[in-house]
Amino acid sequence: MSKCWNALIAVRAPTGICLAAFTLAFLPGCHSLKLNSNSPTSDKTETKADGSPAAPSKFSFRVAPYVFMSDFEVPHDQPLFQELAGMRDQIYKELQLPPGNAVVQVYLFEDHARYQLFMQSRYPELPERRAFFVAQPRAIGGAEDLLVYTFWGERIQQDLRHELTHALLHSVIRDVPLWLDEGLAEYFELPPDRKGLNPAHLASLRRGPLGPYKPDLTRLEGLTEVKQMTPTEYRESWAWVHLMLRDKPEAKVVLTNYLRQLRLNATPGPLEPKLAAVFPALDEAFDKHLAQFEASGRADADGRWWLERGRGCVSICPIVPYVLLVL
Ligand SMILES: [Zn+2]
Repeated sequence: MSKCWNALIAVRAPTGICLAAFTLAFLPGCHSLKLNSNSPTSDKTETKADGSPAAPSKFSFRVAPYVFMSDFEVPHDQPLFQELAGMRDQIYKELQLPPGNAVVQVYLFEDHARYQLFMQSRYPELPERRAFFVAQPRAIGGAEDLLVYTFWGERIQQDLRHELTHALLHSVIRDVPLWLDEGLAEYFELPPDRKGLNPAHLASLRRGPLGPYKPDLTRLEGLTEVKQMTPTEYRESWAWVHLMLRDKPEAKVVLTNYLRQLRLNATPGPLEPKLAAVFPALDEAFDKHLAQFEASGRADADGRWWLERGRGCVSICPIVPYVLLVL
């Protein structure tokens, strides 16, 4: 994502190409990790024969299920890559999905300028964003290439976690509703020890200038175009996902059952009635859920982190743009 708030923008092109992009950033974890040496794979230049910028290809290393490609030597011994290796198990376990085995190709540009030059050449129709996920149908066989493009910047951890969440979901569920896709990516873009708690989103939803945010899941589920998704919609999507995963166990069952349905049927109907069966007063449950985390912020591990990271925002200047305070 790239913006002044902790949100992202996703683009679903009518051609079947699914693009998810986001703007800001965050990190640790572990797993059986296979790191090949960061060895040169070719001596290609950074431009193609026609002069257009080429995707990075000089170096590659694999951290299953991803293959990272770059034109510079990525410091792949960093904890970041161990954490990314654990994401697959984390997400599929948490969401009770069968593990996918698709390879995700991650193109890491050395800096924003090279990344931007390539994206403008390869995907001129896309808005300017810090990272993209692209599910690109292959010419033959009906399969897709799962591609992530981004650059090595300060937000690399959160950018990668966000886009790789899209890729891991997409590898086992072809169509995830826009709001849910982004809500899940917002949840998992945070390091595992944060348990999905985004202090900026929480503060914004609870301490906005108009008071606690009034959710509308019916409206959210009706959104089909990226341009309809503003930072507000990203925050609300995150909050519904957080409620389903971190509130009562029955709510998590609603989410995992819904995801299971989506694997078989791209249009299983709205999720709201299913969640309302668990929380008859749904908006009230939303409010209570966030209020509980806001209050517990002073007592538990999440809260300690939140207070440490969010004190200036939450306690002192709640209406200051979060870009100044978060990530
Ligand atoms: Zn996204």
